[in-house]
Amino acid sequence: MNQPINSSPYWWEAAPLARDAGEQLPNYSDVVIVGAGITAMCAAIPLLRAGRSVTIVDAGEIGSGASTRNAGYVSRSFKHSFGDLERKHGQDYAIQLHRELQQSVDSVRHMVQSESIDCDLQMIGRFMPAPTAAAYEALANDLDTQRRHLGFEFEMIPRERVRNELATDIYQGGALLPDLGGLHPGKYHAGLLASALKSGATVIPNTHVSNLQPQGDGQVRVETSRGEIMARDVVVATNGYTDTLLPWLRRRIIPFDAHMISTEVLSPQLVKRIIPNGRVCIDTNHNPFFVRQSPDGTRLLFGALTGEQPDTPEQKGERLRALLCRLLPDLGQVAIEHSWTGRCSGTFDLYPHLGTHQGIHYSLGYCFVGVPMGTYLGGKIAAGILDRADAFTVFRDRNFPSLPLYSEKPWFLPAVFGYYRFLDRRTPAGALA
Ligand SMILES: Cc1cc2nc3c(=O)[nH]c(=O)nc-3n(C[C@H](O)[C@H](O)[C@H](O)COP(=O)(O)OP(=O)(O)OC[C@H]3O[C@@H](n4cnc5c(N)ncnc54)[C@H](O)[C@@H]3O)c2cc1C
Repeated sequence: MNQPINSSPYWWEAAPLARDAGEQLPNYSDVVIVGAGITAMCAAIPLLRAGRSVTIVDAGEIGSGASTRNAGYVSRSFKHSFGDLERKHGQDYAIQLHRELQQSVDSVRHMVQSESIDCDLQMIGRFMPAPTAAAYEALANDLDTQRRHLGFEFEMIPRERVRNELATDIYQGGALLPDLGGLHPGKYHAGLLASALKSGATVIPNTHVSNLQPQGDGQVRVETSRGEIMARDVVVATNGYTDTLLPWLRRRIIPFDAHMISTEVLSPQLVKRIIPNGRVCIDTNHNPFFVRQSPDGTRLLFGALTGEQPDTPEQKGERLRALLCRLLPDLGQVAIEHSWTGRCSGTFDLYPHLGTHQGIHYSLGYCFVGVPMGTYLGGKIAAGILDRADAFTVFRDRNFPSLPLYSEKPWFLPAVFGYYRFLDRRTPAGALA
């Protein structure tokens, strides 16, 4: 119970970050990518294979952003329901957008296969428990509409069968989406990085990009803490870690922290009793709980309290541990080994955004689904730079809203997450937090 808590992600045990001094910053690269997560790698690979030189620069270690800190869920979730999209934009648009969500999931599967990445991808289902009868009903209706228009399969699991998927009595039922699942994000990123390096990427860690200066000849001067580099195209792939490099972008991105823990090693019988079918689970509250088995089935990984300040890893870890034990009472009292935090980004319209502003490309604002979206939109960024016919996506060049008086500090976040907490606390699951 009293072992010290490791504040780095559980995933780094099997996939340690490549702690390499990196290469020299070249004088010129066809493309410079700021940020070295999933988005960067998935943009770089096709660019390199099309013959472009690519330099990836990150302020931290390569992969130390959210790409190796997340829960590894691969899903086609979107913050607006099919019905809302249909009402606002029409049926064709709702169908097109949902098709792209499916394509983002397919893009992960394709990347794993085509690059032979060993990252424990298991598409054996996602379980979404609903905290209230009304949420259960709404979920069933939305999934039913999706099935009618897009053929996405699902099964509603009534309250009395929830324990077949997750050992808790707190929910009112849930939905099983059999074709979704999860992967090991550390191994996924490591595999992407290996492919980019094999294709000739120059990767520069621990180097902050401080300024982007478009030049008269169409090139961009990229100023970094290690000197300057000229580029024909620059991609900003910084998601939740977006700083004031481009103030225009920073005003449109809402960074927030998300927290996870991993338990000590548990007996295989206990893990099986808690999540009998090994699905990744995430409830439908505004600020959800998410829990899954580690890919090797030895422990549980749990996330919650998204949007709260980090505290110390010990304090946050203890709160998450206590919450996990209340949510899943069959666990008894477990100890935790890792407690870590990563940075996500939301947007004011809850859409991811990809586009070009004053000659600089960007793809970010994934609202918690960056594993598939970073993979998919990374590829779309590359397709756009290469002027390929498949560069279209509904997420490209949409109106990208901001908020008056917002420049850097998201002063409104405590109110937003406070409101979510207020709504969630009226449900038995939310009241546990
Ligand atoms: C706890 C947690 C759980 C999550 N769970 C899931 C999940 O289950 N499924 C899912 O799909 N998504 C999940 N997400 C979201 C997902 O991890 C992110 O959306 C995704 O990793 C973003 O990838 P990225 O490559 O765009 O950015 P990141 O991987 O975050 O990389 C951005 C990088 O930009 C660098 N950077 C920023 N500014 C500069 C600068 N000026 N100069 C140089 N470098 C700079 C940073 O150092 C950072 O390394 C989760 C996130 C967290 C934190």
